[in-house]
Amino acid sequence: MEHVIAVRGVSKAFAGVQALDNVSLEIAPGEIHCLAGENGSGKSTLIKVISGVHAPDAGTVELGGEQLAKLSPRAAIAGGVQVIYQDFSLFPNLSVLENLALPAEVSAGRTFVNWRRMRSVAAAALAKIDVDIDLDARVGSLSVAQKQLVAISRALMSDAKLIIMDEPTTALTKREVSALFEIILGLKARGIATLFVSHKLEEVFEISEKFTIIRNGKHVITCLPEELDHKKFSYFMTGREFDES
Ligand code: ADP
Ligand code: MG
Repeated sequence: MEHVIAVRGVSKAFAGVQALDNVSLEIAPGEIHCLAGENGSGKSTLIKVISGVHAPDAGTVELGGEQLAKLSPRAAIAGGVQVIYQDFSLFPNLSVLENLALPAEVSAGRTFVNWRRMRSVAAAALAKIDVDIDLDARVGSLSVAQKQLVAISRALMSDAKLIIMDEPTTALTKREVSALFEIILGLKARGIATLFVSHKLEEVFEISEKFTIIRNGKHVITCLPEELDHKKFSYFMTGREFDES
């Protein structure tokens, strides 16, 4: 397989706002790809198109080499795309075990939950990223970083080929960011690609193998980190010359 995903010429407008204007992006298996852009540049909208939440006005999305006639959340998940949203979309009043097990049980259409089986499945999901969190803890009582780890584990319970993380470091400490980067490298080692969405320059240069910058919904550049210095990166992000004073 050449690409886990290929986005070609995607445009999307909301009332009065051209959120995306002819954006293209390709991600290879296991690639750590950063999508960078300032607030409002269209990053989250692009994620929502890729994950089937928003239908694009123009353009196509190919998953695993197949162009999908109609992308839907279900088709995106079946195509191996999992999104870790900024709010993690977890159930705070349910336990870690319930959060990990219930989506799989619901989509399998089972009537009664075999909790003993689910406990071992959930434990295995956390073990995949080498994380130790009490399965019986209420998710609402966990730290932000722990919630994120639960969300990543849950994403890995499906046969994910691409994990999309929307601004995953916003509420993390430096140490937690390093731990997250270790996990992303671990995913890569298992052939799982990451689309890491960020507007933080240092992070993009630290973790990405390739990055794409968008500005005002338009594709600006896709390149390797070594092809661009920080100054040019800032310029491409903001459209303004970098002020060194
Ligand atoms: P980013 O994630 O890069 O901050 P977004 O994709 O969230 O940017 O937003 C891009 C532009 O589209 C912004 O101007 C935003 O206000 C607008 N936008 C995003 N979602 C919607 C929506 N559902 N309805 C109307 N406008 C939206
Ligand atoms: Mg966003």
